[in-house]
Amino acid sequence: MDWFTEKWTPNINFSVKIKEHIYSETTPFQQLEVYDSFDLGRFFTLDGIMMANEKDEFIYHEMIIHTPMSVNPNIKNVLVIGGGDGGSVRELTRYPSIIKIDMVEIDESVVRACQKYFQVTTTGLTDPRVTMKFEDGLAFVKNTKNVYDLIIVDSTDPIGPGEGLFSMEFYQNCHRILSDDGILINQHESPYFDKESQEMKRAHQKIKVLFPVAKVYQAFIPTYPSGHWLFGFASKKYDPVVDFKEAFIETLGYKTKYYNKNIHTGSFALPNYVIEKLKKI
Ligand code: SAM
Repeated sequence: MDWFTEKWTPNINFSVKIKEHIYSETTPFQQLEVYDSFDLGRFFTLDGIMMANEKDEFIYHEMIIHTPMSVNPNIKNVLVIGGGDGGSVRELTRYPSIIKIDMVEIDESVVRACQKYFQVTTTGLTDPRVTMKFEDGLAFVKNTKNVYDLIIVDSTDPIGPGEGLFSMEFYQNCHRILSDDGILINQHESPYFDKESQEMKRAHQKIKVLFPVAKVYQAFIPTYPSGHWLFGFASKKYDPVVDFKEAFIETLGYKTKYYNKNIHTGSFALPNYVIEKLKKI
């Protein structure tokens, strides 16, 4: 019986027992694999790194979307950078108040493979409000004349195609194309292991220079390195806890599986060692 193994550090492996290796593709940007497993259901990886699995993808996708949407219920135009599995878009399409969702994903192969083999996250991609653009997010934010109320950076780690999505140039352009009360949410790595912790600090250092509000919030994602995962909440105007509209999500008539009003505020309460790391920047 096969195992999928991801190196969390040079000395720690994360392994998942596989039922079936469903699909494999060397795309122009990365190595894409889809597996079926005993304990996580189906999952897909990019360059050997766990991206999303049927068992816990809802945690990441609820936290990256419902947190900003509950701070500014007037969000109308949204940009998703990356997010090729469609999970972020799926959560966004639950909001009738949103009128337009642009998803800029560099690798069309990821979208097509998920539409065929990992459909749990792709249900929102056919929503008429969604426009998919298969190009580099770094170039898109540099050249677009559009204005967005919310930008979601649902990227891979800052290696390979994802590297530019952690650069000062990228964040400056995100700031430029955000409305006056715009919010930027980014996948913010993790405080636990050195590699992700360095990336967390690098990203936070740049974002806090550009945005008056630059907070970090956390979620427990068992299948990401250490399970302690962070998101960045940057805004030109709103504080994610002070301006939290706790009743808004209730108006959706949709029962989330992870996110709730106590999780919203609680996720911004960080452990001291994380606060220290963010302060040291
Ligand atoms: N949403 C998943 C999760 O639960 O964390 C994983 C993130 S999603 C699969 C990451 C996406 O970012 C990939 O599809 C990758 O192709 C895309 N990506 C990486 N670099 C990019 C870039 N420069 N511009 C646009 N998309 C990029």
